[in-house]
Amino acid sequence: MTSMEDSPRIPVESAAPRMEALARLPVFFALHGKRVLVAGGSAAAAWKVELLAAAGADVEVYAKEMSEDMLTAAAAPPAGSVKLHREYWTAASMDGCALAIGACETDAQAQQFHSAAQSAGVPCNVVDKPDYCDFSFGAIVNRSPLVVAISTDGAAPVFAQAIRSRIEAMLPAGFARWAEAARNWRSALKKTDLSFNGRRLFWQMFTRAALQNPNGEPSRADFDALLDETKTQAPAAEQGSVTLVGAGPGDPELLTLRAVRALQSADVILYDDLVSKEVLDFARREARRMLVGKTGHGPSCKQSEINALMVGLARSGRRVVRLKGGDPMIFGRAGEEIDACREAGIAFEVVPGVTAAQGAASRLGLSLTHRSAARRVQYVTGHGEKGALPDDIDWRSIADPGVTTVVYMPKKTLRQFTGHAVAAGLDPETPALAIANATRPEEQVVSATIGELPDRAMLEGPTIVMIGSVCSLADREIIQPRGNVRSKRRLTGYTVT
Ligand code: SAH
Repeated sequence: MTSMEDSPRIPVESAAPRMEALARLPVFFALHGKRVLVAGGSAAAAWKVELLAAAGADVEVYAKEMSEDMLTAAAAPPAGSVKLHREYWTAASMDGCALAIGACETDAQAQQFHSAAQSAGVPCNVVDKPDYCDFSFGAIVNRSPLVVAISTDGAAPVFAQAIRSRIEAMLPAGFARWAEAARNWRSALKKTDLSFNGRRLFWQMFTRAALQNPNGEPSRADFDALLDETKTQAPAAEQGSVTLVGAGPGDPELLTLRAVRALQSADVILYDDLVSKEVLDFARREARRMLVGKTGHGPSCKQSEINALMVGLARSGRRVVRLKGGDPMIFGRAGEEIDACREAGIAFEVVPGVTAAQGAASRLGLSLTHRSAARRVQYVTGHGEKGALPDDIDWRSIADPGVTTVVYMPKKTLRQFTGHAVAAGLDPETPALAIANATRPEEQVVSATIGELPDRAMLEGPTIVMIGSVCSLADREIIQPRGNVRSKRRLTGYTVT
Protein backbone atom coordinates (compact mmCIF):
# COMPACT_ATOMS: atom_id res chain seq x y z
CA MET A 1 0.00 0.00 0.00
CA THR A 2 2.91 2.35 -0.53
CA SER A 3 1.86 3.08 -4.08
CA MET A 4 0.07 6.23 -3.18
CA GLU A 5 3.06 7.87 -1.57
CA ASP A 6 3.26 10.17 -4.57
CA SER A 7 -0.31 11.48 -4.12
CA PRO A 8 -0.08 12.47 -0.52
CA ARG A 9 -2.91 13.37 1.76
CA ILE A 10 -2.61 15.31 4.98
CA PRO A 11 -3.75 13.83 8.29
CA VAL A 12 -7.12 15.41 9.01
CA GLU A 13 -8.44 15.96 12.46
CA SER A 14 -12.08 14.89 12.57
CA ALA A 15 -14.48 17.11 14.43
CA ALA A 16 -15.35 15.86 17.88
CA PRO A 17 -18.51 13.75 17.73
CA ARG A 18 -21.62 15.95 18.00
CA MET A 19 -24.41 15.33 20.44
CA GLU A 20 -27.54 13.75 19.03
CA ALA A 21 -30.83 15.52 19.80
CA LEU A 22 -31.60 15.09 23.49
CA ALA A 23 -35.20 14.72 24.74
CA ARG A 24 -34.32 15.98 28.24
CA LEU A 25 -31.24 17.44 29.86
CA PRO A 26 -30.36 15.43 32.96
CA VAL A 27 -29.07 17.75 35.67
CA PHE A 28 -28.33 16.86 39.27
CA PHE A 29 -29.65 19.49 41.63
CA ALA A 30 -27.73 20.20 44.84
CA LEU A 31 -30.53 20.70 47.39
CA HIS A 32 -28.66 20.50 50.65
CA GLY A 33 -29.94 23.25 52.94
CA LYS A 34 -32.27 24.70 50.29
CA ARG A 35 -35.98 25.32 50.66
CA VAL A 36 -38.35 23.36 48.46
CA LEU A 37 -42.10 23.85 48.33
CA VAL A 38 -44.47 20.90 48.07
CA ALA A 39 -48.17 21.71 47.59
CA GLY A 40 -50.51 18.86 48.55
CA GLY A 41 -50.65 16.24 51.28
CA SER A 42 -51.40 13.08 49.26
CA ALA A 43 -49.35 9.86 49.14
CA ALA A 44 -47.90 10.97 45.77
CA ALA A 45 -46.79 14.24 47.34
CA ALA A 46 -45.34 12.31 50.30
CA TRP A 47 -43.05 10.31 48.01
CA LYS A 48 -41.70 13.53 46.50
CA VAL A 49 -41.15 14.87 50.01
CA GLU A 50 -39.18 11.73 50.85
CA LEU A 51 -37.01 12.16 47.75
CA LEU A 52 -36.39 15.86 48.27
CA ALA A 53 -35.55 15.42 51.94
CA ALA A 54 -33.23 12.51 51.04
CA ALA A 55 -31.39 14.99 48.81
CA GLY A 56 -30.93 17.26 51.84
CA ALA A 57 -33.68 19.81 51.12
CA ASP A 58 -35.66 21.67 53.77
CA VAL A 59 -39.12 20.78 52.51
CA GLU A 60 -42.11 22.99 53.26
CA VAL A 61 -45.40 21.13 52.70
CA TYR A 62 -48.61 23.12 52.25
CA ALA A 63 -51.96 21.24 52.43
CA LYS A 64 -55.17 21.39 54.45
CA GLU A 65 -55.08 17.62 54.83
CA MET A 66 -52.08 15.39 55.30
CA SER A 67 -52.16 11.68 54.36
CA GLU A 68 -50.70 8.95 56.61
CA ASP A 69 -47.76 8.66 54.18
CA MET A 70 -47.08 12.37 54.53
CA LEU A 71 -47.09 12.15 58.31
CA THR A 72 -44.62 9.26 58.13
CA ALA A 73 -42.37 11.11 55.66
CA ALA A 74 -42.38 14.18 57.90
CA ALA A 75 -41.75 12.22 61.10
CA ALA A 76 -38.37 10.78 60.12
CA PRO A 77 -36.91 12.33 56.98
CA PRO A 78 -33.82 10.47 55.61
CA ALA A 79 -31.90 13.80 55.55
CA GLY A 80 -32.80 17.50 55.36
CA SER A 81 -36.02 18.48 57.13
CA VAL A 82 -39.79 18.47 56.54
CA LYS A 83 -42.17 21.12 57.86
CA LEU A 84 -45.93 20.64 57.53
CA HIS A 85 -48.13 23.75 57.08
CA ARG A 86 -51.84 22.85 57.36
CA GLU A 87 -52.94 25.57 54.97
CA TYR A 88 -53.03 26.19 51.18
CA TRP A 89 -49.92 27.48 49.49
CA THR A 90 -49.80 31.15 48.47
CA ALA A 91 -47.53 33.04 46.09
CA ALA A 92 -45.52 34.10 49.14
CA SER A 93 -44.75 30.46 50.00
CA MET A 94 -42.68 30.24 46.83
CA ASP A 95 -40.26 32.93 48.01
CA GLY A 96 -36.68 31.75 48.14
CA CYS A 97 -37.54 28.21 47.06
CA ALA A 98 -35.14 26.25 44.84
CA LEU A 99 -37.95 24.09 43.43
CA ALA A 100 -41.74 23.90 43.66
CA ILE A 101 -43.64 20.61 43.42
CA GLY A 102 -47.41 20.51 43.22
CA ALA A 103 -49.70 17.53 43.67
CA CYS A 104 -52.71 19.21 42.06
CA GLU A 105 -56.02 17.54 41.36
CA THR A 106 -57.36 19.64 38.51
CA ASP A 107 -55.72 21.22 35.47
CA ALA A 108 -56.91 24.63 36.64
CA GLN A 109 -55.07 24.18 39.95
CA ALA A 110 -52.01 22.91 38.11
CA GLN A 111 -52.01 25.90 35.83
CA GLN A 112 -52.35 28.31 38.73
CA PHE A 113 -49.49 26.63 40.57
CA HIS A 114 -47.28 26.60 37.50
CA SER A 115 -47.82 30.26 36.70
CA ALA A 116 -47.19 31.28 40.31
CA ALA A 117 -43.90 29.35 40.21
CA GLN A 118 -42.98 30.95 36.91
CA SER A 119 -43.63 34.45 38.27
CA ALA A 120 -41.45 33.63 41.27
CA GLY A 121 -38.75 32.23 38.94
CA VAL A 122 -38.90 28.82 40.63
CA PRO A 123 -38.61 25.65 38.47
CA CYS A 124 -41.83 23.69 38.87
CA ASN A 125 -43.12 20.14 38.62
CA VAL A 126 -46.78 19.16 38.86
CA VAL A 127 -47.13 15.45 39.64
CA ASP A 128 -48.51 13.51 36.65
CA LYS A 129 -49.27 16.69 34.66
CA PRO A 130 -46.41 17.03 32.17
CA ASP A 131 -47.94 20.14 30.54
CA TYR A 132 -47.27 22.06 33.75
CA CYS A 133 -43.75 20.78 34.41
CA ASP A 134 -40.44 22.54 33.85
CA PHE A 135 -38.63 19.34 34.80
CA SER A 136 -39.38 15.73 35.60
CA PHE A 137 -38.04 13.23 38.12
CA GLY A 138 -36.09 10.27 36.71
CA ALA A 139 -36.12 6.67 37.89
CA ILE A 140 -33.22 6.48 40.33
CA VAL A 141 -30.47 4.02 41.17
CA ASN A 142 -28.95 5.25 44.41
CA ARG A 143 -25.35 4.48 45.26
CA SER A 144 -24.75 7.93 46.68
CA PRO A 145 -22.60 9.80 46.05
CA LEU A 146 -22.97 7.82 42.80
CA VAL A 147 -26.44 8.46 41.39
CA VAL A 148 -27.94 7.16 38.14
CA ALA A 149 -31.18 8.66 36.83
CA ILE A 150 -33.25 7.38 33.91
CA SER A 151 -35.78 9.26 31.83
CA THR A 152 -37.84 8.29 28.79
CA ASP A 153 -39.26 11.81 28.48
CA GLY A 154 -42.55 10.43 29.73
CA ALA A 155 -42.74 8.02 26.78
CA ALA A 156 -42.50 4.75 28.70
CA PRO A 157 -42.32 4.88 32.51
CA VAL A 158 -42.67 1.09 32.80
CA PHE A 159 -39.74 0.63 30.43
CA ALA A 160 -37.72 3.11 32.50
CA GLN A 161 -38.48 1.11 35.65
CA ALA A 162 -37.35 -2.12 33.97
CA ILE A 163 -34.10 -0.45 32.93
CA ARG A 164 -33.70 0.86 36.44
CA SER A 165 -33.97 -2.69 37.84
CA ARG A 166 -31.34 -3.88 35.40
CA ILE A 167 -28.91 -1.14 36.33
CA GLU A 168 -29.75 -1.76 40.00
CA ALA A 169 -28.71 -5.40 39.58
CA MET A 170 -25.59 -4.44 37.66
CA LEU A 171 -24.16 -1.87 40.08
CA PRO A 172 -22.85 -3.51 43.25
CA ALA A 173 -24.02 -1.85 46.45
CA GLY A 174 -20.36 -1.40 47.42
CA PHE A 175 -19.87 1.20 44.66
CA ALA A 176 -21.37 3.66 47.11
CA ARG A 177 -18.40 3.08 49.42
CA TRP A 178 -15.91 3.45 46.56
CA ALA A 179 -17.52 6.66 45.35
CA GLU A 180 -17.48 7.98 48.92
CA ALA A 181 -13.81 7.02 49.24
CA ALA A 182 -13.09 8.87 45.98
CA ARG A 183 -14.69 11.97 47.43
CA ASN A 184 -12.58 11.70 50.58
CA TRP A 185 -9.35 10.96 48.73
CA ARG A 186 -9.67 13.68 46.13
CA SER A 187 -8.17 16.44 48.29
CA ALA A 188 -5.44 14.18 49.70
CA LEU A 189 -4.43 13.35 46.11
CA LYS A 190 -4.25 17.04 45.16
CA LYS A 191 -1.73 17.56 47.96
CA THR A 192 0.69 14.98 46.51
CA ASP A 193 3.27 16.02 43.92
CA LEU A 194 1.55 14.01 41.15
CA SER A 195 1.05 15.82 37.84
CA PHE A 196 -2.25 15.90 35.96
CA ASN A 197 -1.33 12.71 34.07
CA GLY A 198 -0.23 11.06 37.30
CA ARG A 199 -3.53 11.90 38.99
CA ARG A 200 -5.42 10.54 36.03
CA LEU A 201 -3.40 7.32 36.32
CA PHE A 202 -4.34 7.15 40.00
CA TRP A 203 -8.06 7.37 39.14
CA GLN A 204 -7.67 4.68 36.49
CA MET A 205 -6.12 2.38 39.05
CA PHE A 206 -8.75 3.36 41.57
CA THR A 207 -11.45 2.39 39.05
CA ARG A 208 -9.77 -0.93 38.34
CA ALA A 209 -9.58 -1.66 42.08
CA ALA A 210 -13.27 -0.74 42.56
CA LEU A 211 -14.32 -2.97 39.67
CA GLN A 212 -12.20 -5.86 40.90
CA ASN A 213 -13.32 -5.63 44.48
CA PRO A 214 -16.71 -3.89 44.33
CA ASN A 215 -17.87 -4.96 47.75
CA GLY A 216 -14.61 -4.20 49.52
CA GLU A 217 -14.22 -1.52 52.17
CA PRO A 218 -11.76 1.00 50.70
CA SER A 219 -9.40 2.08 53.47
CA ARG A 220 -6.44 4.38 54.03
CA ALA A 221 -4.19 1.39 53.25
CA ASP A 222 -5.86 1.07 49.81
CA PHE A 223 -5.22 4.74 49.16
CA ASP A 224 -1.56 4.38 50.10
CA ALA A 225 -1.15 1.25 47.96
CA LEU A 226 -2.79 2.90 44.94
CA LEU A 227 -0.63 5.98 45.41
CA ASP A 228 2.54 3.88 45.54
CA GLU A 229 1.54 1.99 42.42
CA THR A 230 0.77 5.26 40.65
CA LYS A 231 4.17 6.70 41.59
CA THR A 232 5.90 3.62 40.20
CA GLN A 233 4.02 3.79 36.92
CA ALA A 234 3.76 7.57 36.57
CA PRO A 235 7.09 8.14 34.79
CA ALA A 236 5.92 5.91 31.92
CA ALA A 237 2.53 7.64 31.85
CA GLU A 238 4.24 11.04 31.55
CA GLN A 239 6.04 9.90 28.44
CA GLY A 240 2.98 8.92 26.52
CA SER A 241 2.63 5.70 24.62
CA VAL A 242 1.48 4.14 21.39
CA THR A 243 -1.05 1.32 21.22
CA LEU A 244 -1.59 -0.33 17.86
CA VAL A 245 -5.17 -1.52 18.03
CA GLY A 246 -6.94 -3.92 15.70
CA ALA A 247 -10.40 -2.54 14.97
CA GLY A 248 -11.57 -5.78 13.34
CA PRO A 249 -13.36 -5.95 9.98
CA GLY A 250 -16.20 -3.59 10.92
CA ASP A 251 -18.72 -5.11 13.32
CA PRO A 252 -17.94 -3.34 16.62
CA GLU A 253 -18.90 -6.46 18.58
CA LEU A 254 -15.73 -8.07 17.30
CA LEU A 255 -13.53 -5.64 19.21
CA THR A 256 -11.53 -7.19 22.04
CA LEU A 257 -12.06 -5.97 25.59
CA ARG A 258 -8.52 -4.65 25.53
CA ALA A 259 -9.21 -2.69 22.34
CA VAL A 260 -12.22 -1.08 24.00
CA ARG A 261 -10.13 -0.23 27.05
CA ALA A 262 -7.43 1.34 24.87
CA LEU A 263 -10.03 3.37 22.96
CA GLN A 264 -11.53 4.57 26.21
CA SER A 265 -8.28 5.84 27.62
CA ALA A 266 -6.82 7.35 24.45
CA ASP A 267 -5.85 11.01 24.15
CA VAL A 268 -5.46 10.84 20.37
CA ILE A 269 -6.71 8.26 17.88
CA LEU A 270 -5.01 8.01 14.50
CA TYR A 271 -7.34 5.91 12.38
CA ASP A 272 -7.54 4.50 8.88
CA ASP A 273 -10.41 4.78 6.38
CA LEU A 274 -11.17 1.11 6.93
CA VAL A 275 -12.18 1.69 10.54
CA SER A 276 -15.96 1.73 10.89
CA LYS A 277 -17.78 4.59 12.56
CA GLU A 278 -19.40 2.14 14.98
CA VAL A 279 -15.93 1.19 16.24
CA LEU A 280 -14.91 4.84 16.67
CA ASP A 281 -18.02 5.36 18.77
CA PHE A 282 -16.30 3.35 21.51
CA ALA A 283 -13.57 5.97 21.87
CA ARG A 284 -13.33 8.29 24.84
CA ARG A 285 -15.43 11.33 24.05
CA GLU A 286 -12.59 13.78 24.66
CA ALA A 287 -10.10 11.89 22.48
CA ARG A 288 -8.86 13.75 19.39
CA ARG A 289 -9.60 11.73 16.29
CA MET A 290 -7.36 12.05 13.26
CA LEU A 291 -7.98 10.33 9.96
CA VAL A 292 -4.62 9.32 8.56
CA GLY A 293 -6.44 7.50 5.79
CA LYS A 294 -4.90 4.73 3.82
CA THR A 295 -7.05 3.29 1.13
CA GLY A 296 -5.63 1.02 -1.52
CA HIS A 297 -6.45 3.22 -4.44
CA GLY A 298 -7.15 6.72 -3.20
CA PRO A 299 -4.87 9.33 -1.73
CA SER A 300 -3.06 8.22 1.42
CA CYS A 301 -0.98 9.89 4.08
CA LYS A 302 2.69 9.08 3.75
CA GLN A 303 3.71 6.29 6.10
CA SER A 304 6.69 8.38 7.20
CA GLU A 305 4.33 11.20 8.16
CA ILE A 306 2.08 8.87 10.12
CA ASN A 307 5.12 7.53 11.99
CA ALA A 308 6.37 11.03 12.76
CA LEU A 309 2.95 12.22 13.92
CA MET A 310 2.46 9.15 16.11
CA VAL A 311 5.90 9.40 17.73
CA GLY A 312 5.63 13.18 18.14
CA LEU A 313 2.30 12.94 19.93
CA ALA A 314 3.55 10.15 22.23
CA ARG A 315 6.68 12.18 23.02
CA SER A 316 4.54 15.07 24.16
CA GLY A 317 2.90 12.77 26.73
CA ARG A 318 -0.18 11.67 24.78
CA ARG A 319 -1.63 8.17 24.84
CA VAL A 320 -1.84 7.51 21.15
CA VAL A 321 -4.05 4.79 19.75
CA ARG A 322 -3.15 3.80 16.20
CA LEU A 323 -6.39 2.19 15.10
CA LYS A 324 -6.27 -0.08 12.09
CA GLY A 325 -8.85 -2.17 10.26
CA GLY A 326 -8.73 -5.91 10.98
CA ASP A 327 -5.59 -7.07 12.75
CA PRO A 328 -2.73 -4.55 12.87
CA MET A 329 -0.17 -7.25 12.10
CA ILE A 330 -1.82 -8.36 8.84
CA PHE A 331 -1.05 -6.06 5.90
CA GLY A 332 -1.21 -3.10 8.26
CA ARG A 333 2.32 -1.64 8.08
CA ALA A 334 2.53 -2.36 11.80
CA GLY A 335 6.18 -3.37 11.40
CA GLU A 336 7.22 0.11 10.34
CA GLU A 337 5.22 1.79 13.09
CA ILE A 338 6.69 -0.52 15.71
CA ASP A 339 10.20 0.23 14.38
CA ALA A 340 9.49 3.96 14.65
CA CYS A 341 8.42 3.52 18.30
CA ARG A 342 11.46 1.40 19.10
CA GLU A 343 13.80 3.93 17.51
CA ALA A 344 12.22 6.78 19.44
CA GLY A 345 12.18 4.81 22.71
CA ILE A 346 8.38 5.09 22.95
CA ALA A 347 6.54 2.40 24.90
CA PHE A 348 4.18 0.54 22.61
CA GLU A 349 1.67 -2.27 22.82
CA VAL A 350 -0.21 -4.17 20.15
CA VAL A 351 -3.83 -5.20 20.60
CA PRO A 352 -4.74 -7.86 18.04
CA GLY A 353 -7.95 -7.70 16.06
CA VAL A 354 -10.06 -10.03 13.96
CA THR A 355 -8.61 -9.97 10.46
CA ALA A 356 -10.91 -9.69 7.42
CA ALA A 357 -10.38 -13.37 6.52
CA GLN A 358 -11.45 -14.56 9.97
CA GLY A 359 -14.43 -12.24 10.02
CA ALA A 360 -15.58 -13.43 6.60
CA ALA A 361 -15.00 -17.12 7.38
CA SER A 362 -17.10 -16.84 10.52
CA ARG A 363 -19.93 -15.07 8.74
CA LEU A 364 -19.97 -17.75 6.05
CA GLY A 365 -19.65 -20.64 8.48
CA LEU A 366 -16.64 -22.03 6.64
CA SER A 367 -13.50 -23.24 8.28
CA LEU A 368 -10.34 -21.94 6.64
CA THR A 369 -8.63 -25.23 7.39
CA HIS A 370 -10.22 -28.62 6.89
CA ARG A 371 -8.87 -31.99 7.93
CA SER A 372 -9.01 -33.50 4.47
CA ALA A 373 -9.22 -30.53 2.15
CA ALA A 374 -7.07 -27.70 3.48
CA ARG A 375 -4.00 -28.28 5.60
CA ARG A 376 -2.61 -24.81 5.12
CA VAL A 377 -3.90 -21.23 4.99
CA GLN A 378 -2.06 -18.37 3.35
CA TYR A 379 -2.78 -14.65 3.21
CA VAL A 380 -1.42 -12.98 0.08
CA THR A 381 -1.61 -9.36 -1.06
CA GLY A 382 -2.73 -8.53 -4.57
CA HIS A 383 -1.33 -5.04 -4.19
CA GLY A 384 2.44 -4.81 -4.15
CA GLU A 385 4.67 -1.88 -3.31
CA LYS A 386 3.95 -0.09 -6.55
CA GLY A 387 0.24 -0.88 -6.63
CA ALA A 388 0.73 -3.67 -9.18
CA LEU A 389 0.57 -7.39 -8.54
CA PRO A 390 3.64 -8.33 -6.47
CA ASP A 391 6.22 -9.98 -8.71
CA ASP A 392 7.52 -12.42 -6.13
CA ILE A 393 4.45 -14.53 -5.36
CA ASP A 394 5.17 -18.25 -5.24
CA TRP A 395 2.52 -19.29 -7.77
CA ARG A 396 2.98 -23.01 -7.12
CA SER A 397 1.90 -22.46 -3.53
CA ILE A 398 -1.29 -20.82 -4.80
CA ALA A 399 -1.85 -23.79 -7.14
CA ASP A 400 -1.53 -26.28 -4.25
CA PRO A 401 -4.92 -28.09 -4.08
CA GLY A 402 -4.59 -28.52 -0.29
CA VAL A 403 -4.38 -24.81 0.56
CA THR A 404 -6.84 -22.05 1.34
CA THR A 405 -5.60 -18.77 -0.07
CA VAL A 406 -7.00 -15.43 1.04
CA VAL A 407 -6.11 -12.55 -1.25
CA TYR A 408 -6.18 -9.13 0.41
CA MET A 409 -6.52 -6.02 -1.77
CA PRO A 410 -7.38 -8.17 -4.80
CA LYS A 411 -9.53 -5.79 -6.79
CA LYS A 412 -7.16 -4.26 -9.34
CA THR A 413 -5.17 -7.39 -10.01
CA LEU A 414 -7.55 -10.35 -9.65
CA ARG A 415 -7.59 -11.26 -13.35
CA GLN A 416 -3.82 -11.16 -13.57
CA PHE A 417 -3.52 -13.05 -10.26
CA THR A 418 -5.82 -15.80 -11.52
CA GLY A 419 -3.95 -16.00 -14.85
CA HIS A 420 -0.61 -16.57 -13.11
CA ALA A 421 -2.08 -19.11 -10.68
CA VAL A 422 -3.83 -21.13 -13.39
CA ALA A 423 -0.64 -21.09 -15.49
CA ALA A 424 1.17 -22.55 -12.47
CA GLY A 425 -1.36 -25.40 -12.25
CA LEU A 426 -4.30 -24.05 -10.21
CA ASP A 427 -7.49 -25.80 -11.35
CA PRO A 428 -9.75 -23.05 -12.77
CA GLU A 429 -12.71 -24.99 -11.35
CA THR A 430 -11.44 -24.40 -7.78
CA PRO A 431 -14.26 -22.86 -5.70
CA ALA A 432 -13.73 -19.22 -4.76
CA LEU A 433 -15.54 -16.42 -2.97
CA ALA A 434 -15.28 -12.66 -3.06
CA ILE A 435 -16.45 -11.01 0.15
CA ALA A 436 -16.89 -7.27 0.42
CA ASN A 437 -17.51 -5.42 3.68
CA ALA A 438 -17.33 -8.62 5.70
CA THR A 439 -19.24 -8.36 9.04
CA ARG A 440 -20.73 -4.98 8.10
CA PRO A 441 -24.38 -4.28 7.31
CA GLU A 442 -23.50 -3.84 3.63
CA GLU A 443 -21.65 -7.17 3.44
CA GLN A 444 -21.81 -8.86 0.03
CA VAL A 445 -20.55 -12.20 -1.18
CA VAL A 446 -20.06 -13.59 -4.67
CA SER A 447 -19.47 -17.30 -5.14
CA ALA A 448 -17.94 -18.67 -8.37
CA THR A 449 -15.06 -20.83 -9.61
CA ILE A 450 -11.75 -19.00 -9.57
CA GLY A 451 -11.79 -19.13 -13.37
CA GLU A 452 -15.04 -17.17 -13.46
CA LEU A 453 -14.59 -14.91 -10.45
CA PRO A 454 -12.71 -12.06 -12.19
CA ASP A 455 -15.76 -11.58 -14.47
CA ARG A 456 -18.19 -11.74 -11.59
CA ALA A 457 -16.69 -9.99 -8.61
CA MET A 458 -17.27 -6.31 -9.06
CA LEU A 459 -17.96 -5.35 -5.51
CA GLU A 460 -17.88 -2.02 -3.73
CA GLY A 461 -15.86 -1.51 -0.56
CA PRO A 462 -12.98 -3.45 1.00
CA THR A 463 -12.95 -6.93 -0.51
CA ILE A 464 -11.06 -10.18 -0.04
CA VAL A 465 -11.01 -13.20 -2.31
CA MET A 466 -10.84 -16.73 -0.91
CA ILE A 467 -9.65 -19.57 -3.08
CA GLY A 468 -9.74 -23.26 -2.20
CA SER A 469 -12.02 -26.23 -1.81
CA VAL A 470 -13.27 -24.99 1.60
CA CYS A 471 -15.12 -22.23 -0.27
CA SER A 472 -17.69 -24.82 -1.36
CA LEU A 473 -18.51 -25.24 2.33
CA ALA A 474 -19.76 -21.66 2.67
CA ASP A 475 -23.17 -21.58 4.24
CA ARG A 476 -25.38 -22.86 1.38
CA GLU A 477 -28.39 -21.51 3.16
CA ILE A 478 -27.30 -18.02 2.38
CA ILE A 479 -25.98 -18.55 -1.14
CA GLN A 480 -28.55 -17.85 -3.81
CA PRO A 481 -28.73 -20.03 -6.95
CA ARG A 482 -26.79 -17.61 -9.12
CA GLY A 483 -24.07 -17.52 -6.59
CA ASN A 484 -24.70 -14.08 -5.18
CA VAL A 485 -24.88 -14.29 -1.47
CA ARG A 486 -26.56 -11.77 0.72
CA SER A 487 -26.45 -12.75 4.29
CA LYS A 488 -29.73 -13.21 6.12
CA ARG A 489 -28.12 -13.52 9.49
CA ARG A 490 -28.07 -9.91 10.45
CA LEU A 491 -26.23 -8.68 13.43
CA THR A 492 -28.00 -6.96 16.25
CA GLY A 493 -28.47 -3.31 15.62
CA TYR A 494 -27.89 -3.60 11.90
CA THR A 495 -30.40 -2.95 9.16
CA VAL A 496 -31.41 -5.86 7.01
CA THR A 497 -30.53 -5.15 3.40
N1 SAH B 1 -5.24 -5.35 8.69
C1 SAH B 1 -6.38 -5.67 7.85
C2 SAH B 1 -6.01 -5.66 6.40
C3 SAH B 1 -5.59 -4.30 5.91
S1 SAH B 1 -5.24 -4.27 4.21
C4 SAH B 1 -6.98 -7.00 8.28
O1 SAH B 1 -6.40 -7.68 9.13
O2 SAH B 1 -8.06 -7.34 7.81
C5 SAH B 1 -6.76 -3.72 3.55
C6 SAH B 1 -7.50 -4.84 2.90
O3 SAH B 1 -8.09 -5.69 3.86
C7 SAH B 1 -8.67 -4.41 2.05
O4 SAH B 1 -8.25 -3.95 0.78
C8 SAH B 1 -9.42 -5.70 1.94
O5 SAH B 1 -8.79 -6.59 1.05
C9 SAH B 1 -9.25 -6.27 3.34
N2 SAH B 1 -10.38 -5.95 4.21
C10 SAH B 1 -10.36 -5.19 5.33
N3 SAH B 1 -11.57 -5.15 5.90
C11 SAH B 1 -12.39 -5.90 5.16
C12 SAH B 1 -13.76 -6.27 5.22
N4 SAH B 1 -14.55 -5.82 6.22
N5 SAH B 1 -14.26 -7.07 4.28
C13 SAH B 1 -13.48 -7.53 3.28
N6 SAH B 1 -12.18 -7.22 3.15
C14 SAH B 1 -11.64 -6.42 4.07
